[in-house]
Formats: sequence, C-alpha cells, structure tokens
Amino acid sequence: MTAGDSLETMAAGGDPDSQFQLGVQYLYGTGDTPKDASKAAEWFRKAMESGHVPAIREYGILVASSEGVEADPEEGARILGRAADELDPSAMYHLGLMYEKGIGVPVDMQKAVRLLAYAAMMGYPGADIDAQRIDDILTEERNRRLKSRPVIKLMLSDVDVEAACCPRMLDDLLAQRTVFTESEEGPALLGDDAQGFEAVFHACPYCGAPIQIVPRDKQYFG
Ligand SMILES: [Zn+2]
Repeated sequence: MTAGDSLETMAAGGDPDSQFQLGVQYLYGTGDTPKDASKAAEWFRKAMESGHVPAIREYGILVASSEGVEADPEEGARILGRAADELDPSAMYHLGLMYEKGIGVPVDMQKAVRLLAYAAMMGYPGADIDAQRIDDILTEERNRRLKSRPVIKLMLSDVDVEAACCPRMLDDLLAQRTVFTESEEGPALLGDDAQGFEAVFHACPYCGAPIQIVPRDKQYFG
C-alpha cells in the first residue's frame, strides 16, 4: 500500500484531515494524483460537513471561482464567510477581495479593508499591501467628500467621518491627525488633545461642535 492509498483509505473512511489533504492533492495535482478540480471540490465538501475550517475555505473559493463546481459566487461568498467567522486568514483575504470587486456580495470597501487588515494582522502574505491599497482609495474618497460638504457640523457615520464642523477640524481630518474610531459609546474621533496626548473626542476640541451620527452616504444637497 502506498502513502497515497492510505490517504484515500482514510479519506474514504471519513477522516476530515485526510479528506482535506486529498482535496489539496487533487487541486494542485501533486505526486501521483492528477489535477482534478471537481474531485478536489468533492473532498473539500465532505471535510466541510465535519466543520473542517480550511476545507470550508477551499470549497468556498472553488464555488466562488466556479472551479470544479457550478458557478455560484453568492454561495461561495456565504461559505467563505463561515471560514472567515472562524478567523481563517486566507478566507478573510479572499472574502475581502470579493467585497472590493462586488463578487457574490455588494461592493463594500469598508468591509473589504477590515477583512484584509485582519488577514494582514494574522500574517497572511500580501494582505497588508491590498489593505493599504484600499485604505488609500478610501482616504481619497473621504477627503473629497469632506471638502465637498458644508463645514458646519461634525458628522460621523458608523464607519467614517462624513462632514467637518470648522476649518481647523477639516485640516486635521484631511491630514489624518484626527481619525475615525469606534469607542464604547459608538463612533468617535481619535486625535491629540490640547496637551498633545492621544484622546477620544465626542465633540470638536476647537469649536465644541458635538458629534452627530448620520447614515453613511447621506445626501447633503438637493
Ligand atoms: Zn470644530
């Protein structure tokens, strides 16, 4: 009996790790195993039924990319979400990119950058570069938004700063000296106080305007 045979035997016997390993062999075509994406998908699906997280992730990727299985990006995103909920860095990475491109899920750059940043924090290679790339896009969008809106009220949505209250706050926000943060009491700002210590603001330290929470993408004109 060869090593390959024993893996087959254990996989057929219902061992999730062996099912996953066999799926990987079929996915890449390693050793004596021919490359066969539909067989890979079959073994990943079997291991997935036992809650094997890497198998859930690999099956989700195959379903999302319609490799070896019928194309179903929405189902793929849902399956990848299960593995991402288990903090699988690769699942977070792939799901993050799907949120960026709107594959199987609505485009959501905020969700994308969060997932990619988590994946990067957990050491997934390349995730830091993608997280930074999307963060740059979001920063550019935020700055354009802040400059286009009346500088009258300090407005935050649940994910970002939406409008500034006074020219000094606008400057700080554009320079990212003051940034959006989530505090225990909800959305807030993080910046330096008058003594130069990092502090969480619930009102503007310059003009005293209180933070107002507004829906994301609120319409300001028309
Ligand atoms: Zn202000």
